Amino acid sequence: MALDRIIEPWSALLDAGREDGRLVREANEGPGPPQLADPPAELHPDVLAALARIGIEQLYTHQREAVYAAWAGPTMFTTGTASGKSMCFNLPTLDVLCRDARARALYLYPTKALAQDQARALAAFGLSKRVRPAIYDGDTPRQARAQIRKSANVVLSNPDMLHVGILPNHAAWADLFSNLAVVVIDEAHVYRGVFGSHVANVLRRLRRIAAAYGTEPRFLLASATIANPIELAERLTGLQDVRLIDRDGSPAPRRRIAVWNPPLTDEALGLRRSALAEAAELLAGLVREGARSICFMKSRKGVEVLSRLVKLELQESDPQLAELVVPYRAGYTPQQRRELEARLTAGELRAVITTDALELGIDIGELDAAVVVTFPGTVASLRQMWGRAGRRGRGLAVYVAGEDALDQFFCRHPEDFLDRPVEAAILDHESQLIYRAHLLCAAHEGPLAGDDAEFLGPRWEAHAEQLQSAGVLRRRPGPGASGDGREAAAGLSAGVYVPRRPDGYPAAEVSLRSASAESFAIVDVSSGELLGSTEAARAHSTVHGGAIYMHLGRSYEVRELDLERRRALVTPFDGDWYTQPKRQTDTEIVRLLDRRETLGVTLSFGEVSVTDTVLAYQRRRLADHAQVDLVALELPPTSFSTQALWFELATAERPAGEPAQLIPLEALLGALHATEHAQIAVLPLIAMCDRWDIGGLSTNFHPQTGAPTIFLYDGHPGGIGIARTAFARFEELCEDARRLIAECPCASGCPSCVQSPKCGNLNEPLSKAGALLLLEQLLAAPAEPALTAPL
Ligand SMILES: [Zn+2]
Ligand SMILES: [Zn+2]
Repeated sequence: MALDRIIEPWSALLDAGREDGRLVREANEGPGPPQLADPPAELHPDVLAALARIGIEQLYTHQREAVYAAWAGPTMFTTGTASGKSMCFNLPTLDVLCRDARARALYLYPTKALAQDQARALAAFGLSKRVRPAIYDGDTPRQARAQIRKSANVVLSNPDMLHVGILPNHAAWADLFSNLAVVVIDEAHVYRGVFGSHVANVLRRLRRIAAAYGTEPRFLLASATIANPIELAERLTGLQDVRLIDRDGSPAPRRRIAVWNPPLTDEALGLRRSALAEAAELLAGLVREGARSICFMKSRKGVEVLSRLVKLELQESDPQLAELVVPYRAGYTPQQRRELEARLTAGELRAVITTDALELGIDIGELDAAVVVTFPGTVASLRQMWGRAGRRGRGLAVYVAGEDALDQFFCRHPEDFLDRPVEAAILDHESQLIYRAHLLCAAHEGPLAGDDAEFLGPRWEAHAEQLQSAGVLRRRPGPGASGDGREAAAGLSAGVYVPRRPDGYPAAEVSLRSASAESFAIVDVSSGELLGSTEAARAHSTVHGGAIYMHLGRSYEVRELDLERRRALVTPFDGDWYTQPKRQTDTEIVRLLDRRETLGVTLSFGEVSVTDTVLAYQRRRLADHAQVDLVALELPPTSFSTQALWFELATAERPAGEPAQLIPLEALLGALHATEHAQIAVLPLIAMCDRWDIGGLSTNFHPQTGAPTIFLYDGHPGGIGIARTAFARFEELCEDARRLIAECPCASGCPSCVQSPKCGNLNEPLSKAGALLLLEQLLAAPAEPALTAPL
């Protein structure tokens, strides 16, 4: 291969992988020269002077374009990691603040640490007379809050604080809202799924309150690369005609991309050498060759294990090098983190192994190599992690595949993952439970009236009527309405909706991180700490007694699930097993919303009610997934309503088509079940989500359809658009699932194709061959593209 022959610290490692086939794909990115331009001359002289003072004479072209775009209208910036994205929104913001001493800006970050980084970046401009940033989040001391409200002209916060602390108390923030000129939403790709659906509502409430104070702030958003940046910006803010700045003028480092697949140890069973062992060897090699490396793992447990393995690997040959490898986990104090970051940047450390705590843009500078172990869930975050590699213009970006279906799919189709547009971020701000919760919050912030359609959407009245029937809102005649019928004739504009309990505080009952207000608290009884909460609909399957529960990468064992008081009592866990619940699931079709004929089946989309009974749980060994035992549980059924797609297959009694007839009846259920698993495994390729966000059910007879049926449903109450997207792009879903199964080298199904780590039937029965036959037959039938646009 005519790639460069410069000897890099990783050349020998790659040669070895190329030789034995573990290196399944390599590519070169960059280098590209920087494209520079002068800062816009129209910027306020103080901003221009500040740029000169910090040594920036020229901007990258996208930064200059960003300023003009931001002046013209709402804008989304999606250039690469380390391309100076924050300059894109900082320059226009600083310009406004320098021109108007009363102007205020609000910056929203998904995490506190990122807000702190940005506050430092703003301070570095040295415009302290005109620019007064302050962080306002849960950690801000009470006594400092009033001062911040009064004097800060850049408030850095997070959506949770905006939702529960700032909007409900807008009167105390009157100065901010009356002068709010700019709202910056950084890391916008994080706001997808349930979280995104909530944040979209919070931002609509923000626009509504700002309007009440007479302002219409300019929204500036920044995101990692995703397939649908403008759509995401528009869905999040409710604004239209958002501009996009995506042509990157920053110099791309020359980066070698390597996709690494651990070797098969048992082809028939689909077993491979573990990704951990493989990564340990690679990292030890990089450390020996002097490369500064960062390695990303999904769990804290994984961070510990891998650190140990790398040190072991080094201790034999180079004990002094073993000391230069450190694990880095969340839970450090800010000072410990800074110290570690400084040692890493200075080159005193060779390798740091971490969870994605570092993923979101914290400035540790660039390193020689970035190694990502197992697929992090989205190509967007993989690319962001890879973006760490490229110190001194050259770097190595490695992905070590795990055994999961998507990991192996990518190893067989690296081009799909390196070249195809990355996933679309999906959210649904009108998801009923979420929308209505925020409508109630909005009513508390100010009576709902006719002109609210601009912010809350055209269907808000229908939702408000429902909340009135439910007894939480009440209609009050508006000023000028006498209640003699003129009110009705004039429509709602003559009256308003107000909360039935004006002294309530509904925002406090809505968590932006879960779809339903009904939740179970998770309490660590060893420390008394409240770890978080889980949706009630998921509590029985995730935190039943005896369950091993993962929270922020750490494992806990559930001591007791207290149904009465809605809480799970847990203790830290470091045993060597995990648990998988055995469940009985039923789906009832509640409302058909859309239907089409395609691939020889009737494909439907609608509302379903999912009823789950957790019957037992299985304990399995971490090392080899072998079953330890099966423990019975006695839990009542739970149900929730959500959105689903389903498709019916023809049967001998209903000879509309062929598929079911050709698959022997005894194999039918296994074929349906394996098809369902494969479709769930590849759905994240279409919609940016996790397989844990999706549920499925397959049956050879569903009482409502009267036929063999497969259901795929949104795992969160109300649904957040995943099933709708899958409905619209069903043909792709079937083709990806077929490829996943057909190309897996295993004999009869393995974790890399049809087995699922979350199957409620513990992967019984499954027929890999039957599913392949079924999908091939579907794909042989004519496709009728969807008319409905994907959400
Ligand atoms: Zn397989
Ligand atoms: Zn299953």
